[in-house]
Amino acid sequence: MRLRNIPGADEAIAQSPYCIQDAAAYTGKWHTLFPQRAPLHIEIGMGKGQFIMGMAKAHTDINYIGIEKYTSVLLRAVQKMEAEETPLDTLRFLCFNAEDITEIFAPGEVDRIYLNFSDPWPKDRHAKRRLTSSAFLDRYDQILAKGGHIEFKTDNRGLFDFSVEEINASSTWQIEALTYDLHNDASMNAGNIMTEYEEKFSSKGNPICKLICNRISD
Ligand code: SAH
Repeated sequence: MRLRNIPGADEAIAQSPYCIQDAAAYTGKWHTLFPQRAPLHIEIGMGKGQFIMGMAKAHTDINYIGIEKYTSVLLRAVQKMEAEETPLDTLRFLCFNAEDITEIFAPGEVDRIYLNFSDPWPKDRHAKRRLTSSAFLDRYDQILAKGGHIEFKTDNRGLFDFSVEEINASSTWQIEALTYDLHNDASMNAGNIMTEYEEKFSSKGNPICKLICNRISD
């Protein structure tokens, strides 16, 4: 998602109480941002934040961090948070490129990672940039707690098949559950919260794929 550059977005993010400014300072102590110590779930590439805000409302016993690399996109999420009658104190946003995610979370600090409608990077030479590439799976291995898992949704079948192959080729990860038609899979769809892209693409008739993966050894 790349919105037109929005003048003032950088400043608005830098001043927002809902955005984390000095991420590296929280390594190993992210829980101090929240009223209570609780499992930490993150979404990488959260876009305008509909999914993670819905999750934070539905699961008040979890702490959430939504990560997005563009301030112009993140600003939309901040505006949604500001429009809430009661801002969600279990959700904070971070403008950050997930390529460096191991620099800001301590080993095992994250309990779950959500990836939703990640950029497909269709050219082979860009495969390493895909958020489900082996390069990223290795980074997730460093920050994810024992027993933690990754949940990935997309309507892009090429990206989904690539992701399944990367997981199957890995000696660390395994697929725990998978569907090629989430909205018609009662058990996997239970409690599903739609993202902006999920609403948009499913309304065009695209089936949504979802997988959950965990570590082979956990
Ligand atoms: N999850 C949202 C948005 C999907 S678009 C939804 O489902 O509606 C993918 C988003 O991921 C874009 O906003 C893009 O800027 C962000 N993104 C892509 N690569 C990223 C990275 N390396 N780090 C952080 N965010 C990233």
